[in-house]
Amino acid sequence: MPGAIFGIAVFDRNLRIRQVNHAFTRMTGYEEIEVLDCPPHFLHAPGASSELAGRIYQQIFEGTPWSGEVQSVRKDGTELVVFLRVFPSRSPAGDITGFLSIAEDITDKKNYSALLEQLSQHDQLTGLPNRELLQQHFDQLCADHHQVAVLWLDLDNFKEVNDALGHAVGDILLQQVAYRLRDSLKKNESIGRISGDDFVILLASASEEQVIRRTLELLELTAQPLSLPEQTLSITASSGIALWPADGDSLGSLLQKAEIGKYKAKASGRNNYQFYESQMQEMASLRLAQNNALKTALDNQELHLCFQPQVCLQDQTVAGVEALLRWNSRDWGVVPPSDFIPLAESSGLILTIGDWVLDTAMAQLRNWLDQGIPPVTMAVNISAIQFEHPDFIEQVSCALARYRIPPQLLELELTEAMAMKKPKISEQRMRELHMMGVKLSIDDFGTGYSSLSYLKRFKSDKLKIDREFIADMDHDPDDQAIVTAIIQMARRLSISVLAEGVETARQAELLRRLGCHQIQGYHYSKPLPASDAASYIRQHSSPA
Ligand code: C2E
Ligand code: CA
Ligand code: CA
Repeated sequence: MPGAIFGIAVFDRNLRIRQVNHAFTRMTGYEEIEVLDCPPHFLHAPGASSELAGRIYQQIFEGTPWSGEVQSVRKDGTELVVFLRVFPSRSPAGDITGFLSIAEDITDKKNYSALLEQLSQHDQLTGLPNRELLQQHFDQLCADHHQVAVLWLDLDNFKEVNDALGHAVGDILLQQVAYRLRDSLKKNESIGRISGDDFVILLASASEEQVIRRTLELLELTAQPLSLPEQTLSITASSGIALWPADGDSLGSLLQKAEIGKYKAKASGRNNYQFYESQMQEMASLRLAQNNALKTALDNQELHLCFQPQVCLQDQTVAGVEALLRWNSRDWGVVPPSDFIPLAESSGLILTIGDWVLDTAMAQLRNWLDQGIPPVTMAVNISAIQFEHPDFIEQVSCALARYRIPPQLLELELTEAMAMKKPKISEQRMRELHMMGVKLSIDDFGTGYSSLSYLKRFKSDKLKIDREFIADMDHDPDDQAIVTAIIQMARRLSISVLAEGVETARQAELLRRLGCHQIQGYHYSKPLPASDAASYIRQHSSPA
């Protein structure tokens, strides 16, 4: 049968080849003489599953025909895919006497259908999944998770760039953005390109907080410079986000909503994201907008420090000041630190800002010392992220050296919760700082775990009783009992105690009687601009 397309082999009952046809030879490259008496193992492709071969043998030796796709290999080593049918033959008594195998070479068909699949489910320019494949990924993510965010990411001003640079360069730009985004994807994330400069990213099982963080990362990643033929260029993106199942249950409706979000993001200044509207999402957008604005706040000189005196209760002299950060934003006016510090912490911006605070506080102190103002301690608030950063100690010693500040005039305020988070690292850091001569105080004391043994281990010089206890102290006996206990304990451990948020003479008097060393609060002074703080220090220093 010279024209046959099926490669046929006849086997005996021990699965040794007895006979093959011409098509078999054409398909595999083996002449009949070469394969006579051989078992079929030489036809197994090196990468083919041996488990599958085992199953086939078991089934046919049980007398049941088998059919399916298998990977095979030719004499010259090239691989092929065949559709194989194997029929056991039996004697009239029912015993297996041999096998007949019929193989069809389907390699081309397979390649073609893989190509077709690739073509029909992927965008030609970037190779990213298209809308159809994205739908499959969406279905899968929804099946496996509780929440899926659909993030529409649209490049800002792409049309202008495309017109100015030409479409060929525009295409390269799209490809680079696509590869960059695709390569950054994490587990349970998926990306597709649905048209022009519109990318869609699916993020699974994420809390809103996570979605925001991830969106910011992706926007930042997009904005990194791209190397295009003959030039480097940065392009930002705007993003709209809709959440499954809260905002809709089909990919179509979620895309619509994400697109609305995207238009809002574009309208509010681009390089930005917007959730599909709801009150909470408005807040999230505000936070993002503020976070973006915060990035430029330093350069725009919108940040400054205020200084709040810390007064000794014994003689009413000022012992130190606490540097408190202020943001006077162009867009929102005065933003309280309780709003923007957490934002800066979650975006990592606190590292830059914190460094600036330390530097500025030391510069201010140097300026006062140079003016002949009596030396006071400068207390600086430190965030956990800063404190844990490997360069922190280095930063502190640089700032001290730069402004020639005696280390004992710097006091770092750390919160209890922060010291407890990674007690080992904290202890090590605190010991190093202690050895440098820098003072440490535990801020907001009483609101965390207040482990006394840690206080000693952490080598803190001071603890600051949280405002909450002071505020209610004169009418809440429990608070008064707590404050009393903290003061007694600190004194026994030879740690200095400061009460925060003292607003009345009554509170001050009560604290003095309880043996509290220092107080800070509106009763003595609000946080002051540098020049007013300088006057305050001059007026309230112990006579030399
Ligand atoms: P904190 O360290 O507990 O700072 C004390 C806060 O209490 C300050 O608020 C201060 O203005 C306020 N305060 C002082 N005396 C009184 C009083 O008598 N009554 C009342 N009701 N409040 C009083 P502020 O300046 O808004 O700072 C809030 C928080 O922001 C700070 O709490 C601190 O955790 C954080 N923060 C401020 N500056 C920085 C900074 O430079 N870096 C870091 N990481 N955090 C900072
Ligand atoms: Ca503080
Ligand atoms: Ca505090």
